[in-house]
Order: sequence, then C-alpha cells, then structure tokens
Amino acid sequence: MNPVFSPATRRPIRELPDELISQIAAGEVIERPAAVVRELVDNALDAGATQVTVRLAAGGVRLIAVEDDGAGIPSAELPVALKRHATSKIGNLRDLESVGTMGFRGEALAAINSVAELALLSRTADAATAAMLDGRTGELRPAARATGTTVEVKELFFATPARRKFLKTDATELAHCIEAVRRHALARPEVGFAIWHEGKLIEQWRATSPEQRLADVLGEDFLAQSIAVAHGSGALRVSGRVGLPDAARSRADQQFAYVNGRFVRDKVLTHAARSAYEDVLHGQRQPVYVLYLEIDPTRVDVNVHPTKIEVRFRDSREVHQAVRHAVENALAVPRSQALAAQVPVEGAQDPQSAAAVPPGTLFGPFSDLKQPHPSAGWPQHAINSGLHRGSGVSDFEALWPQRHAGDGSPAPDNALPAPDAAGWAPGAPDAPAADAGQRADSRTAGADPSIWPLGRAIAQLHGVYILAENAQGLIVVDMHAAHERILYERLKQQLDEARIGSQPLLIPATFGATPQEVATVEASTDVLQTLGLEITPFSPRTLAVRAVPTTLAQGDAVELARSVLAELAQHDASTVIQRARNELLGTMACHGAVRANRRLTLPEMDALLRQMEATERSDQCNHGRPTWRQLSMRELDGLFLRGR
Ligand code: ADP
Ligand code: MG
Repeated sequence: MNPVFSPATRRPIRELPDELISQIAAGEVIERPAAVVRELVDNALDAGATQVTVRLAAGGVRLIAVEDDGAGIPSAELPVALKRHATSKIGNLRDLESVGTMGFRGEALAAINSVAELALLSRTADAATAAMLDGRTGELRPAARATGTTVEVKELFFATPARRKFLKTDATELAHCIEAVRRHALARPEVGFAIWHEGKLIEQWRATSPEQRLADVLGEDFLAQSIAVAHGSGALRVSGRVGLPDAARSRADQQFAYVNGRFVRDKVLTHAARSAYEDVLHGQRQPVYVLYLEIDPTRVDVNVHPTKIEVRFRDSREVHQAVRHAVENALAVPRSQALAAQVPVEGAQDPQSAAAVPPGTLFGPFSDLKQPHPSAGWPQHAINSGLHRGSGVSDFEALWPQRHAGDGSPAPDNALPAPDAAGWAPGAPDAPAADAGQRADSRTAGADPSIWPLGRAIAQLHGVYILAENAQGLIVVDMHAAHERILYERLKQQLDEARIGSQPLLIPATFGATPQEVATVEASTDVLQTLGLEITPFSPRTLAVRAVPTTLAQGDAVELARSVLAELAQHDASTVIQRARNELLGTMACHGAVRANRRLTLPEMDALLRQMEATERSDQCNHGRPTWRQLSMRELDGLFLRGR
C-alpha cells in the first residue's frame, strides 16, 4: 500500500507555506529564462518605459537584468511587489475585465523570487534616492539610480535542480530570450530595446516608426515582401503586414499575432490567418505575418493562461472572420497595383520607386484605418468593376478567341492565331472574337501604355512566357499560370452568382469513356449543368460533350470533361459544390487556360496583362506559384555591369 495514503501515516490538512505556493506557481509561469525576460519586459512596458535594456549571462541562467526608465516603484512598496497576488494594475473585478496592461496576475515577481536570487532596484521621479531590495533577505537599503527600475535575477532554478536540468544549452536559452524581446519590440516601436550577453551588445532596436521597426527586427526583405493590412469592423481592428505567398516558409517561425499589444499564440488567430492564404498558398508552406488585433478589452480574457500567451475571445467567430477578411483582402489586391503606385515590390529596386513610399503611411500597429489601402494603387471597388483596367480594353472576352455556336468559319483576321493542336478541341474551330478595329483599340484607345502596371507586351518567349516593358523594366509572365488564375477567379465569381454561362459546341466532342465516367455523368447531370457543362452518353462506352462553360470555350472540351468527371467521382454529387468547389473550379480553369506553345498576338498578350491587373490574387496561379516577375532596369544593368 502506498504509505502516503495509509491511515497510520496520514498527514493533517495544512495550508502550504507561501514560498512553496510560489514555487509551484513558478512551475507554470517560469519554464525557462526567456519567460523571466518576458515577464520583466512586460512590467517595464507597463511602467511606461521608453528604453528597456536586457543584460544576460549564460543564456540568462546565471543572470537576467532588465533595466527601464519607467515610473519606478516607491521604496515602501518594494517588499509588496514581491508578494504573491500583489499588483498595482487592478483593484476590483471590473478592472479585471477591462485591464489594458500586459498582465496583472500579480505573481511574476513572487514566482521568480522563489526560484532565483532576485534584487529590485527602483526610484520614482519624486524620490530623493533609489532603494534596493534583496529578495532573499528582505533587506531594503538606499542606492543610486535614475528614475526607473532594474530587476536582477541570478542563478535561475538554483534551489530546484530538477528544473535546471530541463534547460537547454546556453545558446538555445539565449535564442529564446532574444525571441521574447523581439516579440515585444514588434509591438512597441516607440520603445527602444537593447540586449547584452556576457558584456556584448547583441541586439539593439532604437525607437522608430512602426514600419522601420518591422524592418529592423525582421529584415528589410520583410517590408519588400509583405503587404499592409488595414481592416476595421465593429469593435475589431486588424492592422499589420502579411507576407506575400512567395515569402512563405517551411516553418511557422515568422508569425506574430498581437491582441491589444500583447503577443499571443492563439488557435483562432493562427487558423484565420492561414485560411486566408488557402487560395494562394498550397501544401505545407507557412505564411509570414505580423498582425495586430485591437479589440474592446471586455471582449477578450487575457488572463486565462499563466504565461498570458493564450487568450479567450468572447466571440471567436467574429475574430476569426475579421482576421480572415483582413488578410484575404490584402492578399487579393494584385501586386501590379502596387507597382503602379510605385510601392517597391520584390525585385523592383528602382531608387525612384523606393523613394516614392510615403514615410510612415504604410501601416502601423494601431494605425489609422481611414488611410487608403496602401498597397493598392487603385481602390478595390475599381478593380472589381474594371473601371481602371488601364488599357481601354473593356472586354477581355472580345480579345480572347471564343467559339460561337453555329459559326464554323475560320477566323478571318490573321491577327488571331490559328488554333493549335495543344489547346483546341477538334472540330470546333475558332470564331472571330473581335474585329481588327477593336483590337487596335486595346493598344491605342484611352490609355497611355507607360502607366500600365504590367507594361506593354513586346514578345512571347518559346510559347511559354510573355515579355512586357513597364516603367520599372522588364516583366516576365508565365502565360498559362496567369491565365489559369484569371479563369479560376472568374469561375468562382460566376458560380457564386449561379451563372456559369454555357456554350454549346457546334460539333459535340465525343470520347471513349470508362463505365465509371458514364455512371458519374448519369449521377451528376445537375452538378454538370451548374458548372456549365453538358455531357451525355453517346453509346454505352462513349460520352459526348455538348456544351462547355463560356469562359473555358477555347480549352480542350474532352480534357475538361474527363478531369471534371474524375473529380466528381471522388465526391458525393449533392454536396460537391459546397465541399470541393475550389478544387473543382481550379481543375476546370487549368484545362481552360491557354497552353504552352500557343502563339499569341501582341494584342492578346496585352489583353492578358490588363486582365491580370484587374483580377484578384492574380500574382499566384491556382497552385500558389508566381505568375509574373519583375526584372528592374537596375537588375538588368547589374547583369551587364553597367554603371560600375
Ligand atoms: P503584475 O505585473 O501582474 O502586477 P508582477 O509580480 O509582475 O505582477 O509585479 C508586481 C507589481 O510590481 C506590479 O503591479 C507593479 O506595480 C510593480 N512593478 C514590477 N515591475 C515594475 C517595473 N519595472 N516598474 C514599475 N513597477 C513595477
Ligand atoms: Mg507583471
């Protein structure tokens, strides 16, 4: 029998000594030196510090000293600060609901004091001298110091060797300490931070603007490869910057989320952010972002977790939606818009474009959401309405060849290429889409090609890439990938509006089908119709495609039918549109998109570029790969060693 529970040895119920309670609490709060750093910097910021200096030895295990120039603690209160549940931050339950500080459990200093040698040195502005409290002996004596507080923590876990054993190498613990300060630094650009290790200055972030702080902490690349987020709805505000899909990483190590200025790891926020990338980032890639959520303090409980790193939202659906929308909206704006607005993008390093970023207007924690979307040269509604397509091409369809039922005559205009074997259904020849005059319009009417963000098409390379000249230099477009995204976005919109137009084929395209395919056709007539497809059994082993979605009319009807049937076979026909909508439409878009080796005329290429500028998410194909790249004049000059 377990001796603890044997009646003979039963101990009486007793209250635990304070010291032991604190040590138990410390087990939750202080798992490693970085946790001490986080708590002490929290306190410094709550005290209104403008400069916080962290000094470490042996990765923080031997020494952590955090120095601030905040309000300080009156000497009479120093001993109280070390007591459990002692705090100056709340006084009653109402405060508990609305507190705007970093944390108020009132146990950090007590917990740290119970597992390390702690000393408090502090001075308030009106005190004649500073006072120093020895946490072990309780001795209080006068000392010298300017206004502010220094908390010194030595020999962490000296009394609890079992804990000390769990610590990693000094280098690892140091890295965690730095990360803890970085998290604070990203939220408080107006505060200067410095980290010293073993007497050497290893990080320093001076007080600066929000965007410069991001660049200082995360690197200049982060600014160039991210988009500003600004979104406000009701009691919620979301700001910050989200990385372009290109900048995604294999690990989720550059994801910073803040709630009312506090760094959190929250499932709702992480999920919302990742789901906003669903359509532009595929596989296991992890986006990078810094997101600041501002929420009415009464709608979030920040005090549910000992380390205060998790929060509980009163309405997590509302938060999820706000964050998802904020990030989605930012990502939807084609990056070419930013190019037109002369905001530098990755690769475009013209001094001209870099200089044109208005300082301080990009974003900010707690930024003014009334500012226009900084990455959008043109407002979102203008993109959607096609107001600013820039080229005077009012109708892309008019340029892109379409098949018209009942018109089997070949295109009279040689400006339109003859359909080639790779991309066109047999027996369904092209019809003229637009007359030559209309096409000429695309290059002349209404618009000055020099302001087209993606430039003026100048050539097609090996039937794969479109080359275009824009203000910054050379644009290279993956024509299939770009067209695929355009079709995909159009199909999504059409399906949402329940109007995927269907176009009958002049001559039905028949193909030898498997029994499975025939069965799928019979089970899915309605779904097929919704998708703009008409497929009927022709014989027991043959299917006939009789109509295809208008948007995909130039694609290979048989390929399209086969792949849609394959997709449908995997799902329950009645719910496929809800559950596999994007996969389905993605597959369709892929088959409708222009194939490699298809020769395009310059007007067709220009039309594609204009459409990219006006299509949401057009910077990535449906599989998350980039659709275009900019080679700036400077980069080209570099290739030729010009100006060296
Ligand atoms: P909490 O931060 O939850 O209130 P702590 O144990 O971290 O609890 O700190 C206890 C109290 O000590 C704080 O409420 C604050 O009044 C005071 N304090 C701690 N650190 C500082 C500091 N750097 N500057 C000013 N006051 C401080
Ligand atoms: Mg605290």
